[in-house]
Amino acid sequence: MKQRKYIFVVGGVLSGVGKGVTTASLGAIFRTKGFKVTALKVDPYVNVDAGTMNPTEHGEVFVTDDGDETDQDMGNYERFLDTSLGSINYMTTGRVYLTVIENERTMKYNGKCVQVVPHIPEEIIRRIETSADMHDADITIIEVGGTVGEYENILFLEAGRRMRLKNPDNVAFVLVSYLPVPKHLGEMKTKPTQHASRALNSAGLNADMLIARGQFELDQPRREKLAIHCGIPRDNCISAPDVSSIYEIPLKLEEQDIGNKLLNKLKIDNRESDMSTWQSFVSKIDNLDKKIKIAVVGKYFGTGEFTLADSYISVIEAIKHAAWFNGVEPELDWVDSEDFENESDSIKKLSDYHGIIVPGGFGTRGVEGIIEAIRYARENKVPYLGLCYGMQLASVEFVRNVLGKTNANTVEMDPDTPEPVIHINPNQAKNVKENRYGGTMRLGAYDCSLKESSMVKRAYGEEKISERHRHRYEFNNDYRDEVDKAGLKVVGMNKDADLVEIVELENHPFFVGTQFHPEFKSRPMKPHPLFREFIKAAIDK
Ligand code: GLN
Repeated sequence: MKQRKYIFVVGGVLSGVGKGVTTASLGAIFRTKGFKVTALKVDPYVNVDAGTMNPTEHGEVFVTDDGDETDQDMGNYERFLDTSLGSINYMTTGRVYLTVIENERTMKYNGKCVQVVPHIPEEIIRRIETSADMHDADITIIEVGGTVGEYENILFLEAGRRMRLKNPDNVAFVLVSYLPVPKHLGEMKTKPTQHASRALNSAGLNADMLIARGQFELDQPRREKLAIHCGIPRDNCISAPDVSSIYEIPLKLEEQDIGNKLLNKLKIDNRESDMSTWQSFVSKIDNLDKKIKIAVVGKYFGTGEFTLADSYISVIEAIKHAAWFNGVEPELDWVDSEDFENESDSIKKLSDYHGIIVPGGFGTRGVEGIIEAIRYARENKVPYLGLCYGMQLASVEFVRNVLGKTNANTVEMDPDTPEPVIHINPNQAKNVKENRYGGTMRLGAYDCSLKESSMVKRAYGEEKISERHRHRYEFNNDYRDEVDKAGLKVVGMNKDADLVEIVELENHPFFVGTQFHPEFKSRPMKPHPLFREFIKAAIDK
């Protein structure tokens, strides 16, 4: 059997300095060297998944093909590795404990006393190794969320320590740490990173490599200092200054031969990397001067630890991929739909944009304003892409304003609406009634058949597609024929469950609503067909 190798990526000083993108970039580099790579995300919180968390606390919930509600970093891994990951690539403290407790309840430990150590780290190791086996990975990269020294991630570090103890040549540790440049001093300070390194030492570990994140390049004197104080070879202190696009990071890291340095540590022979595809991609996106303005309309999300942008990171990336493919630089504006409710004239500001997107969402806030924005897009022939809630509300808008049923609604907004264009099936209603929220939506990949001669079929270039879902409500088939006849064509269906998946408006440059989330499957160098066509229509406008 082949030797599987493992790289743990841990954080120092601050979270949010790009551990996820670093992990994804390392994966991309090893792939260009011809290795099979997979990546795991560890979220140390107790939630079983990200699905029950408020987006302002957590950012985007990234949905996998197999229907797991995971962290946005999983999206970075999929995009950089150009692969699909599954539930086995994601774990939280809650998930690990849940398995251990279930095992105890079913006597899997044969009557032993079940303890935090070793049983929790053993379950963590089992998950990591299972993922490596499932992907037949030569190299598995594990990103441990948070920063070293927190109570929360100590058991994950312990799992890594045990793996390293057993096979010292198969496990490496990378510390991604932040080096601040306080304004009043004007120089980069290494002390916080020295402390982070010590915190890692107190978990019985020493990093093999340091990735020095900061505003500026790591200079030689500081590299020496870090090498001595952190006990890391000087050449393994890698400079990772801020860059204008995350897609430059693989290049920036591999310039410093990071791949072979890690291979040395893992006792694998050095290999050439071929970064030419990344190189030409980055130079293309660096040199775009034409701009396109896109409005993303939704309720205001700007509170809590995360902002609107974090909640829609895959949508943003999908827009960028599609725009770059079409040779333009996208300019995104977040438009708060509540403005349209408070001041009806403000809808006119949408005339500044070449295209409008309504992304997924939940709840009642700002919905009437979103419906106004959709009406504007429909009537003024502004290219429109509605993602999940954006499809549901486009259907409501159409029934209200084209079919003239003014009290049409989604039952999410008005449970007693006489015209429930978007409704809920009895099983889902039961979940809600019994507060069974965790992992109970319609989740993950489902097939969709596209109608002959539809625009979406031309865009995809195939008849059968598979896309990822995350919703509880759905299009009410009682309205299907009526809506279709009046011009909002039902062009995508899931035949197994007889569910509407895509609607598109006739006699409009581009007006498409999808019950699924196409954004999850967009890749930097392979934009999603619907985003690609949306941007093309926006450029034509
Ligand atoms: N709130 C809607 C539903 O639950 C849409 C969900 C979404 O946009 N992801 O069906």
